[in-house]
Amino acid sequence: MLRLNEVGWIEKDRPACGPKDAIVRPLAVSPCTSDVHTVYEGAIGERFNLILGHEAVGQVVEVGSLVKDFKPGDTVIIPAITPDWESVEAQMGLSQHSGGMLCGWKFSNFKDGVFAEFFHVNEADGNMALLPKNVTPEEGVMLSDMVPTGFHGADNAEVAYGETVAVIGIGPVGLMAVAGANLRGAGRIFAVGSREVCQEAAKKYGATDVVNYKQGDIVQQIQEANSKKPVDKVIIAGGDLASFEQALKIIRPGGIISNVNYLGSGDYIKISRLDWGVGMGHIRIVGGLMPGGRKNMEYLSNLLKYRKLDVSILLTHRYKGIEHIEKGLALMKDKPRDLIKPVITI
Ligand code: NDP
Ligand code: ZN
Repeated sequence: MLRLNEVGWIEKDRPACGPKDAIVRPLAVSPCTSDVHTVYEGAIGERFNLILGHEAVGQVVEVGSLVKDFKPGDTVIIPAITPDWESVEAQMGLSQHSGGMLCGWKFSNFKDGVFAEFFHVNEADGNMALLPKNVTPEEGVMLSDMVPTGFHGADNAEVAYGETVAVIGIGPVGLMAVAGANLRGAGRIFAVGSREVCQEAAKKYGATDVVNYKQGDIVQQIQEANSKKPVDKVIIAGGDLASFEQALKIIRPGGIISNVNYLGSGDYIKISRLDWGVGMGHIRIVGGLMPGGRKNMEYLSNLLKYRKLDVSILLTHRYKGIEHIEKGLALMKDKPRDLIKPVITI
């Protein structure tokens, strides 16, 4: 029996395919920092014998009788979030929360994930997208989670032309937030992180300034570089609960603090009364789970297909063979200084 803090291989039956579903075998997968929060921090509670993993490109091996647009043999991108599209939450534009808070997040949360020989995808027509022919499975797997999450951070921040944006945390998620903010037209982008490999990548994705949080207070560093002016938007894609206090100190009235960080520990976020304009500063704080679904995958994959976004920069560690998933997960836990993201092809 595997439980929190334990990882290993287990035997399970091949999942059954419902009429609207698909069974897929992975071609490329990537471990996520969220898997680390889940298994080593118990961030979403106790789990037993749960198969981890929610980032995959795979080959369809079986489809249910009601699936219209996919067939065995298709190479598909599977988003980390696979909502129930008929739910009332999805009808409200909150597909991530179909069936309840965060319930669109099924893989490696309350359903077996993709680190398996075969995995199950609910509502295949709504939750899978064909991988463009000129995109490799290794690159395509970044569309499952890293690209949509980082871009969701930029979207929720409503980044507009010429704005100054601070991105706190520039692991693979924050780097995609930098890229998303850049594509949305940000003028100046502060990228906060300490790993050199991430700082260099941030510059390639459009950061104009890098800030090392290990070399002094980021509030002071950003304020000084920005001539004491506040920034328009802050995207939080790393750091900790204190990142919100820092964000409030650098944001302008009416600005947006957009969080995509998975807050794995701690109980409360402090909101400074004064920094929040004594409650009247029109500063919005929003936190979001990435949107899944086919349309999102198809649109984002166009950015790779037409070479508007190069995700290969993220892939610092590449392995072949399913047995290397454990190594990949250990890398995500330990975060060596040369790591951005591992990918395992199978
Ligand atoms: P990483 O651990 O790779 O990146 C975290 C970043 O935060 C690094 O740049 C790190 O710097 C930086 N950081 C750490 N401590 C501080 C600090 N005190 N102040 C400022 N920056 C700091 O994580 P990922 O990019 O893989 O993932 C980011 C988060 O997004 C995770 O919590 C993950 O679970 C979550 N996530 C959320 C999703 C969603 O849908 N909302 C989906 C997928 C992931 P360095 O390491 O360089 O020192
Ligand atoms: Zn993830």
